Amino acid sequence: MDNYNLKDDVMTNIVNLLDKDGTFMEIVEEIIHETQKYLCTSHAAILQISVDNSWINSVISYVGEDEEPLPVTNMAMEKFHIDVEELKCCNMDNSTEQERKTLQYMGIKSIVIAPVFINDIRVMYFAVMDVHSVIEYNKEQLKFISDVVNIIQAIAQKKVTKNSLLSSYEVLKAILNSIGSGIIVFGRTDGNIFFENDIAQQIEEVNRTASKAVKEFLHIDKRKTKLLKPMEHYDPQSGLWFEVKFSDLTWIDGSAVSVCTIMDITQKKKNQQKIEYQANNDFLTGIYNRMKCEADLRTILKQAVEEHIKGAVMFLDLDDFKHINDGLGHQYGDVLLQQIAAGLQSVPGLRGHCYRMGGDEFLVIVPPNQYSNLDRIVENVIAMFNKPWYLMGTEYFCTMSMGIATFPDNSCEVHELVKMADTAMYDAKKSGKNRYSFYDSKKDVNTIKRLDIENNMRQAIATQIQEFIVFFQPVVDIETRKCVSCEALVRWDSKTLGFMGPGDFVPLAEYLGLITDIGDYVLEEACKQCKLWNDMGYKDFHINVNLSVVQLLQKDVVKNVREIFDKTGVNPCNIVLEITESFAINDMDRVMKIIDGLKELGPEIALDDFGTGYSSLNYIKQLPLNIIKVDKTFIDDIVEDEYAQAFIKLIVDLSKTIGTEIVVEGIEDIHQFQLLKEIGVDYIQGYFFGKPVDAETFEKTYLGKVLGKEAL
Ligand code: C2E
Ligand code: CA
Ligand code: CA
Repeated sequence: MDNYNLKDDVMTNIVNLLDKDGTFMEIVEEIIHETQKYLCTSHAAILQISVDNSWINSVISYVGEDEEPLPVTNMAMEKFHIDVEELKCCNMDNSTEQERKTLQYMGIKSIVIAPVFINDIRVMYFAVMDVHSVIEYNKEQLKFISDVVNIIQAIAQKKVTKNSLLSSYEVLKAILNSIGSGIIVFGRTDGNIFFENDIAQQIEEVNRTASKAVKEFLHIDKRKTKLLKPMEHYDPQSGLWFEVKFSDLTWIDGSAVSVCTIMDITQKKKNQQKIEYQANNDFLTGIYNRMKCEADLRTILKQAVEEHIKGAVMFLDLDDFKHINDGLGHQYGDVLLQQIAAGLQSVPGLRGHCYRMGGDEFLVIVPPNQYSNLDRIVENVIAMFNKPWYLMGTEYFCTMSMGIATFPDNSCEVHELVKMADTAMYDAKKSGKNRYSFYDSKKDVNTIKRLDIENNMRQAIATQIQEFIVFFQPVVDIETRKCVSCEALVRWDSKTLGFMGPGDFVPLAEYLGLITDIGDYVLEEACKQCKLWNDMGYKDFHINVNLSVVQLLQKDVVKNVREIFDKTGVNPCNIVLEITESFAINDMDRVMKIIDGLKELGPEIALDDFGTGYSSLNYIKQLPLNIIKVDKTFIDDIVEDEYAQAFIKLIVDLSKTIGTEIVVEGIEDIHQFQLLKEIGVDYIQGYFFGKPVDAETFEKTYLGKVLGKEAL
């Protein structure tokens, strides 16, 4: 085939490639190979020009057989001293000094080079080179090369206009510059910058962050991470946060590039911190919440296991919070919770370790570095609750029950550990509130039933209130030993759970607010019974009924009691309402109002469990009490305990001056009875004379009778 025909054939092939499908790179590669069939030089290439004109790179190259590739990879523009405005021929014989230097650098003897324009921008060169000889090209050859460049240009133009986004570098630049983020396009492997938008270039902190991120990116094994997850970068100099994202794409010229976008997320970060704060902190008290507690515990427990160190969690539940909240209003409750939160935080060693778990429950983590101070911390927390709180200008006492579980001894699992502390707390509540107890696995068996009890209790109250049975325990005149009254004490004969004493469900009922329903029922049953026995001829016989603090602080308690009195037709003078000291020590004004309201209905008022709470004689003086019931704990050791004897004597003397009667509870033996008689107590109640029994048994055994004959 002669040269003429060869040229035509090659050109026909190349023109046919115009309509071929495939990428720009693929097509141009074929074109270059075709050209070499005719031109037969050692090398040919498409040299891509970087956007900022700082370097050129051989992106498609033809390397003749037995030839070495040319060193035109990311060649700095400073080294390329050929001014290619249009097709140009240079060789070692007929060029300028600068041009020859360039050829030397590239290792070639001659070059024909022509710019390829897309949308009037010079984006690449088409170069035909030879390393062996100085070639003088004839007109025909130059025309051929020029035609090839036109075809390449046409193909490139077609390809870019097809793709609207990349329709031109200028449009692309404009778009990338209008994006609020910094954008850097760089060679995926070498990190050469193809493009930087204005933000990435001009804003110092973005530029700093980008270079750092790109450097890191280049060090990652990209075979494993094709696309990286967005990363957050903090720029300490500016105090700004950036989100850095990488994605891979093929650049307009076909290069494999990565795009790095750098977005200022400082505001988002701040919002996120706010959200995190809200997610981790209790809105009311500002201390951490349950979620944060569990997260922190997880970390601490893991550490404790690894490092063999100990710690504890303390679960606190306020004893009388319901009264303050329901009775006095939420403002009071809120202030109290805030004060308690602040108080806990200020216990040395506990800052940052206190959590509000919800409602009136708090949890404290005693971290391993504070574990040796556990005793002191417990004391501090208890001391906090032994002082009154100042709410809206008034003093309130609010006690708490606390359960303590230790790790890793009790458990190393977050939920289990918290549950154990909660169990221990409930145990403390059951044993009379205002105390703490350590988790004891032996007791746990009982408390596992707690949920069972709760569900059954709700159901029983709703449908089978008669499952609650009222027992009566005799109260005896110490002089005559005659049973003059009794105390109504509730029991629950549950179909599913069996027979239970109040210790098993009253604290829970109070805790859940269910005591009101149970209490109303007991009061009604007691009133019916009292009326019955009064009508039988025991006209002055009294029945004492316990009123829970929760019940008492109900808004309509007075109305409720009146309705029950009316409904049963009982003589209210024969009913004694027993209230506990913990009620009496709260807001005195309010307490007085409620008690006055109740007293107007006719019943007597007894202060129950005297001696277990904050025995303040000042309070008692202010209350319109008829009876003071001294708690069993006081007389347990009375025979040996001179202090207890002296104290009861004081109460007896005091009661005479304020006009109240004294009942001592829990008399179990004759020594106690005799001693109390000497001291001058009015009435006694206890197993020594009789246990609580059902109404029928009571009527037969105790009603109006003189008791203790056998023993005395
Ligand atoms: P409480 O009001 O102090 O009732 C006296 C408790 O002491 C009764 O226990 C009674 O059985 C017990 N007791 C009486 N004498 C002796 C004795 O000599 N030795 C011993 N070891 N115990 C004695 P119970 O019936 O188990 O009631 C426990 C508590 O449950 C009551 O203490 C009271 O706080 C509460 N409770 C009982 N019934 C009701 C009720 O209807 N409503 C409310 N709100 N609470 C109730
Ligand atoms: Ca009582
Ligand atoms: Ca009592």
